[in-house]
Amino acid sequence: NTRVLLAARPNGEPTEADFRIERAPLPVPGKGQVLLRNRWLSLDPYMRGRMNAGRSYVAPIEVGAVMEGGTVSEVVESLHPDLAPGELVLAEGGWQTHAVADGDSLRRKLDPGDLPLTTALGVYGMPGFTAYAGLREIGKPAPGETVVVAAASGPVGATVGQIAKLRGARVVGIAGGPRKVAHLRDDLGFDVALDHRADDFAAQLKAAVPDGIDVYFENVGGHVFDAVLPLLNEFARIPVCGLIAHYNDSAPPPGPDRLPQLMALALARRLTIRGFIVFDFNKLYPEFLREMGAWLRDGKVRYSEDIVEGLENAPQGLIGLLRGENFGKRLVRIA
Ligand code: NDP
Repeated sequence: NTRVLLAARPNGEPTEADFRIERAPLPVPGKGQVLLRNRWLSLDPYMRGRMNAGRSYVAPIEVGAVMEGGTVSEVVESLHPDLAPGELVLAEGGWQTHAVADGDSLRRKLDPGDLPLTTALGVYGMPGFTAYAGLREIGKPAPGETVVVAAASGPVGATVGQIAKLRGARVVGIAGGPRKVAHLRDDLGFDVALDHRADDFAAQLKAAVPDGIDVYFENVGGHVFDAVLPLLNEFARIPVCGLIAHYNDSAPPPGPDRLPQLMALALARRLTIRGFIVFDFNKLYPEFLREMGAWLRDGKVRYSEDIVEGLENAPQGLIGLLRGENFGKRLVRIA
């Protein structure tokens, strides 16, 4: 078993030295368990948070432990009555070539004859479900309303924008660099696409939303949120999904303290600002699989993937994801 461990807690941006690759004997499954060979590993922004000490919404990864992550895995040995060798499953296999899992903990069997297996880690998996549920339960865009989303070429943002279009909203997508911006406009059908790295980004955003913003799907925070804030309409909804601009912060930002102004705006404009974690909405998962499955098979929702070759390149893959180097859902193909 080859596996990637957390070697040290990063200070600011992670480096290769925060990870360690080692070989270990194959784990042995017990009663009710399976031995899995991991084929695909998902790289996700939340992994940066798990590398820090202190409990967030789940416990941190311990120093010296295997990095956690979602996988598409093949059953190679089974001591569980419902799982047979050769079957493919969605698992939490982690950053390693093999893993042992309780058969009952596996969320889904995957059909290799249906949608591509990799989609189970992206648009047809956790990130896609995040977009679906956050928009449906909190964003609630009405036809004709304006929806703004950043990190818009990634698996969450691209799916948010496309679902909002399917629900009849006007969509403004924000991404970093001309290639991503062109993708939003030309391939995904967003009404407007903007580059948050442009010097006059805030002015461009203002011009792009003549009727203001009704839904801001918050993926990033930072200077994007600063530009969005004054443009929010009365009764705007802000599903707070992620704050990737801050995941590598090692100290609070310099002052002044803007919390009073933010709360005054929340009051005057009657904003709904609601954080959520995807598993809060687990009861919607079967419906997500049905509806999103149909959209994907009909070509109504599109997606892009960014493949990192080999487990040994996973650390650099995560470091680059936090910098915006990925184009679409970032995955590691485990050789
Ligand atoms: P992406 O594939 O979109 O990757 C992250 C992207 O964030 C980068 O490609 C980059 O895109 C953008 N980014 C990085 N730094 C900044 C910055 N300073 N300002 C603006 N954009 C930045 O990731 P996902 O689609 O997987 O995730 C998107 C967000 O959703 C993340 O915040 C993640 O933590 C959150 N999330 C939350 C979940 C929940 O349950 N609440 C579940 C899943 C995801 P660009 O080049 O366009 O700037």
